Amino acid sequence: MLVRSMPDEGGASVGLRSNLKFVGQYLTGIGVTECEHVKEIADVSPTVRECMRCKEEGTRPVHLRMCMTCGFVGCCDSSEMPHMRAHALETGHPIARSIEGDESWLWCFPHERLVRRRL
Ligand SMILES: [Zn+2]
Ligand SMILES: [Zn+2]
Ligand SMILES: [Zn+2]
Repeated sequence: MLVRSMPDEGGASVGLRSNLKFVGQYLTGIGVTECEHVKEIADVSPTVRECMRCKEEGTRPVHLRMCMTCGFVGCCDSSEMPHMRAHALETGHPIARSIEGDESWLWCFPHERLVRRRL
């Protein structure tokens, strides 16, 4: 099964050639599409600035993502335990975004790709 992971900022933690290629596509705008899941985006904001599940489990988060359905904050696919992905699988909440810096991309888990909001 081919599983793409969320793009990861910072360069050093992006180890896979396919990841680099994918981030490159993102930067040029190719591969960013709309999907029906953007309808499930709610007006949420992050309540914490840490991965609570990493805190509980003693694992190390790399970057933080927020669930756009319920506001859950979890860590990215480069983390020891990718808690944002785990949350999406457990709850069926489809869209997450980065809460690192001014990044504004949205990631759709069912589609495994970057999406943009419908205007
Ligand atoms: Zn989707
Ligand atoms: Zn975590
Ligand atoms: Zn959620």
